[in-house]
Amino acid sequence: MNLTNNQKFSINHDPIKGRCLIANETIYTGEIIFEELPLVCSQFLWNAECKYDACQFCLTPLETAEENVTRLTKEQIQLPYVEQCCQTNKSKHINCSGCGQNERYCSIECCQLAYEHYHQLLCPSRSKELENNLNKLCDLWKSIHYPPETASIMLLVKILARIKQDPTFIEKLQQFSSNIIVEQTDKLVHILCGDKFHEQIEILRQIVSEIFSPNDEILQPFLTENGFKSLLAIIGKNGQGIGTSAFSQWAKNCEQFLANNPEELDKINQLTDSLFDKLDEISGCFLNNEGSGLYELQSCINHSCQPNSEVCFLKNNFILSLKAIETINQGEEITICYLDECWQNRSRHSRNKYLQKNYLFICQCRKCQQQINDPDVTSDEEEDSDLQSNPDDDDDDAMNCD
Ligand SMILES: [Zn+2]
Ligand SMILES: [Zn+2]
Ligand SMILES: [Zn+2]
Repeated sequence: MNLTNNQKFSINHDPIKGRCLIANETIYTGEIIFEELPLVCSQFLWNAECKYDACQFCLTPLETAEENVTRLTKEQIQLPYVEQCCQTNKSKHINCSGCGQNERYCSIECCQLAYEHYHQLLCPSRSKELENNLNKLCDLWKSIHYPPETASIMLLVKILARIKQDPTFIEKLQQFSSNIIVEQTDKLVHILCGDKFHEQIEILRQIVSEIFSPNDEILQPFLTENGFKSLLAIIGKNGQGIGTSAFSQWAKNCEQFLANNPEELDKINQLTDSLFDKLDEISGCFLNNEGSGLYELQSCINHSCQPNSEVCFLKNNFILSLKAIETINQGEEITICYLDECWQNRSRHSRNKYLQKNYLFICQCRKCQQQINDPDVTSDEEEDSDLQSNPDDDDDDAMNCD
């Protein structure tokens, strides 16, 4: 759902690229182009298992900034300015009245919305059988899909529950499948779950069918082999990563709070830097509550290796903000980069190999056009990774990136 009234863009249909976002007016660097709520979102399962504590509806951190940094550094840390700069308000936290500690929320509003959207059907307190099936499903997914996580089977389950609780949701879902051609489905499922897991996808499908009852008329088309695979393809292709952190939010708030006190801010920045170093050492790159969601507008934005906007989570929850990172002229296409920073800096050849494997397209952006005559391989490292023709090996490339 778009939260922004002033429409700075329109959605066009390009014959080759499909849907795209075009600026209606000049948009300046730093401007927020729109803010949007996801149709559905879910924390990643390993992330939750490892005690990254987030609202099960909106991913707002449930830990205080101090608890967060203490857990991740494995040292008792006390932070200054917590009253002014830590946003976690434990007095508002609430558990599902049915399943309790399993399902915790940052507020009564999130609890009610989760219930209205999907949790009425999915609350494990409804029956022992449902509880067992949900546990089985999550355990199996965790055995297939390891960190760094990009999707959760619970996103798919929540989509089905939303359809069941409100059949008009199917129309919203169709927007996400409209940019996937049938031949791509298997490839996208392969990227998400890997080769070896063909039979396991079938088991996932059976457990999901049992959760909803396999003969359900409304859900039946999604519970066939092809229907189930196309749902996996939708979450694989369109799932936008979400990250939230109580400690990072505290650090950002301190910057604002101490804007007029540069000396004190300097001290806080030194403290923050040293804590981030420690976090890096102890917890590596897994600092955030992480999950993914489906966003209607974000899913219309095409990739560029030199994008003019970026996705951010300024509210430290599931609300997505799109921010201009350069001036965008009226009539110009609004783009984001699907690659992380490390891949963004590689050669055109490598970037496109990655984009083709993971997103199934060849990029024609301005950077790729400029580099069209560059040699295909620019370094030994890239040559090595290019020699790997099996898409499954690609994870290694991403991990080696530093
Ligand atoms: Zn919440
Ligand atoms: Zn519950
Ligand atoms: Zn490009």
